[in-house]
Amino acid sequence: MSTPPRGPRATDGASVVDRAEAMDGEDPLGGFVASFERVDGVNYLAGHSLGPPGTATAAALGSVVRDQWAKLGVQAWHDWADWPMAVGDVLAGAVLGAGPGQVVVADSTSVNLYKLASAALDARPHRRSVLGWEGDFSTDRYVLEGLAHQRGLDLRWVATSSEGGPERRDLVERIDTSVALVVLSHVDFRTSAVADLAGITAQAHAAGALVLWDLSHSVGAVTVDLDSCDVDLAVACTYKHLAGGPGAPALAYMRRDLQDQLRQPVWGWFGQSQQFHMGLGYEPKAGIGAFLSGTPSVLGLAGVKGAAELLAEAGLDRVVAKARGLCAYAIELADLLLGGLGVEVAGPRQADRRGAHLALRCPRSEWLCQALAERAGVIVDRRPPDLIRVGLSPLSTTYVQVHQGITAMAGLLADSLGS
Ligand SMILES: *Cc1c(COP(=O)(O)O)cnc(C)c1O
Repeated sequence: MSTPPRGPRATDGASVVDRAEAMDGEDPLGGFVASFERVDGVNYLAGHSLGPPGTATAAALGSVVRDQWAKLGVQAWHDWADWPMAVGDVLAGAVLGAGPGQVVVADSTSVNLYKLASAALDARPHRRSVLGWEGDFSTDRYVLEGLAHQRGLDLRWVATSSEGGPERRDLVERIDTSVALVVLSHVDFRTSAVADLAGITAQAHAAGALVLWDLSHSVGAVTVDLDSCDVDLAVACTYKHLAGGPGAPALAYMRRDLQDQLRQPVWGWFGQSQQFHMGLGYEPKAGIGAFLSGTPSVLGLAGVKGAAELLAEAGLDRVVAKARGLCAYAIELADLLLGGLGVEVAGPRQADRRGAHLALRCPRSEWLCQALAERAGVIVDRRPPDLIRVGLSPLSTTYVQVHQGITAMAGLLADSLGS
């Protein structure tokens, strides 16, 4: 893996911006920035929440409407029917470290989490506990609460570590042979801390539990090796760093050797082996296609397809190296320009232990977030009570954007403090 570009250390604002320009100039992925829509006067730093549209996306969606839907009508399903698996295979190879035939793209992350977790719980009927992470994204916790409620299971929570995210040693305390399933997010949506996917998976397996990882903030930002880490199940949304589009269908991964043992709970005609026989009696398709339930969102899949192909072209090693480079630079700038203004970096300080957003703890985060948008055209987001998240989506973000965003933050804060 190539190392992120490094120039002389920052000493003042001017040398820092020169360095940002130099790093953009040397960025091997610099050409991809032009593959995303940009709006004059707007510095979009929220790709961790909703990635910006690719410049080819509108045409790709238009082509589905004009060249397929309009011209071929219902016949176009001969092509579309395979898209959930075909797009899944592109993602598997490009960003998940997974071989083909293990990923589908359909439904939402919440629904996929429910389907996979249900399948896992059914496969361990005598184990009556589920282990989640107390700091996880709300929907993940709610899905587990619902499953525990429906099935009368004991729901246990792993604590958040001091740097963010769940830690292996806290898991060890909570896991035993009554645990059927462990559900965790790989990258902490708050602090961006990366969990030890390989180590935790091995630990859960040692206790006989299955593991389901939520990769929503990992996809297109950090290295993921599902196959070599022997991960059982995974889900992720496709609209964050991946930039598949608002409400784009989510991915679901099930390891190949589990596919004929685990059965998902929503039996529908798209998962049926003879879809058009329409007779009595459900027989699931062989393979990952059995994970489908109803008609997939074709327009949504068209957005994910283009985004996945762009990532495949860029290459995950280079994408991860750029994310780390942006992250290291953002941390250095934040320390230099915001440290004296009551703002501090949350989560781990090493770029290789973070996803692709910078989380800043800031007492007036609501005001700052709004002021940045209104007065400086800088779009970031916040998570209560006091975190501002600065998106560093590697394919669409430049070093100069990071410089401008953090400089604007420092300017607004300094003005408001009257300094
Ligand atoms: C963004 C995100 C989701 C979103 O779930 P949807 O069902 O797509 O709305 C779920 N989990 C995590 C960890 C996320 O970051």
